[in-house]
Amino acid sequence: MDFNLSPDTIAMQQSTREVVDDLLLHEPRFQETNEVPPIVDETLMKMGYYGLTIPEEYGGTNVDKITSVTVQLELARMPPQFWPLIRSAVGPTPHALIRHGTPAQKDKWLPGIAAGTKRVCFALTEPGGGSDVNAMKTTAVRKGDKWILNGTKTFISNANKADIIVVFAKTDKSKGRDGVSAFIIEPSTKGFAISAPMKTMGWMVDGLFELSFDDCEIPAENLLGEEGRGFYYALEGLSEARVNVGCQALGGGDIALEHALRYAKERFTFGVPLASHQVIQHMLADMTMEQHIARLLLLEAAFGVQHDQDVRLKSAYVKVFCTETANRTADKALQVFGGAGYIKGMVVERVFRDLRVLRIYEGASEIQRNMIAKHILK
Ligand SMILES: Cc1cc2nc3c(=O)[nH]c(=O)nc-3n(C[C@H](O)[C@H](O)[C@H](O)COP(=O)(O)OP(=O)(O)OC[C@H]3O[C@@H](n4cnc5c(N)ncnc54)[C@H](O)[C@@H]3O)c2cc1C
Repeated sequence: MDFNLSPDTIAMQQSTREVVDDLLLHEPRFQETNEVPPIVDETLMKMGYYGLTIPEEYGGTNVDKITSVTVQLELARMPPQFWPLIRSAVGPTPHALIRHGTPAQKDKWLPGIAAGTKRVCFALTEPGGGSDVNAMKTTAVRKGDKWILNGTKTFISNANKADIIVVFAKTDKSKGRDGVSAFIIEPSTKGFAISAPMKTMGWMVDGLFELSFDDCEIPAENLLGEEGRGFYYALEGLSEARVNVGCQALGGGDIALEHALRYAKERFTFGVPLASHQVIQHMLADMTMEQHIARLLLLEAAFGVQHDQDVRLKSAYVKVFCTETANRTADKALQVFGGAGYIKGMVVERVFRDLRVLRIYEGASEIQRNMIAKHILK
């Protein structure tokens, strides 16, 4: 495996860094108002980040996975609230459409997703089961040329902005995993309702949403892929999405580390810069080293995706190690700032709050460790 990035990847990394550095100038205002200025999304849309992983025939750039990871690491230096819909656009919903959608579904949706004009969300979690997907209660029953969907999904990101929602439902309760199917739903569907936002500790601007489906009639052609394969599509999409979560984590860790390094040189205690104290130096050295190790793991998994390898295990390593590393980095960065790090408006305070969720969503650390343990103990 070659860890050297290609010249094209380096060029994209550099241009993304410049865009991000410009957009970071909006962070103080965002921190004051909790509103993301429209210029942020407009710029990201113009730069084509929505189409990063969409095939070129549908208007995307379809970069390879190492490039996608490299770009996402840069984007993740921004507040996560600046690019939530791009994360969805490179996430499991378009992934399922690209791999399993019919030509008609792809023609209808992928160009808009690539352009950033059609927004997507992914609805798997239910009130009774996030980690335990088998506990799913949402059902879809075939009736002529329609499916009738009933159930509730919860903690769904970006649902208030989504033009399409990929929903997972049991189409045959007797078959366990083989009885789950995936459907494409438009919010205008009769019987579909969305809750008021659930406000979060960080990460989201709008919060999370509960979705309810009350006898929603879904045209038969909105079944995504094969009936009974939904569980596997979700696992497949999440396996790759966990590599993306690794980027979200390490990019956040990087920006916290950058701030801590700067502050350690500027802040004086006992007549010398903080950076002169060996304890602080060692903290900064550990943060740098751990972020680097985690990045290597991330690149290894990205390499696996790029070469069509089975990355379920490696993406579990990434999900646990990168998110926990970045949380430690953010914690240490805040410590370097002392009291100032605990004040609202400071980047390290925001990063500390934002990164916490990454150990939970898209498969919590415990579930990833269960998977790793199952593999090594078999
Ligand atoms: C900000 C945010 C955004 C989200 N966005 C989406 C989205 O867009 N779409 C979507 O479908 N979902 C989304 N989720 C939901 C998220 O994926 C779930 O919260 C997550 O999978 C955990 O499920 P749960 O909350 O039901 O926790 P539970 O499954 O109830 O688990 C609770 C705790 O117990 C642990 N645990 C559970 N079972 C075991 C076990 N067998 N062994 C050891 N430990 C165990 C878990 O790791 C966790 O720490 C989002 C959540 C958040 C917070």
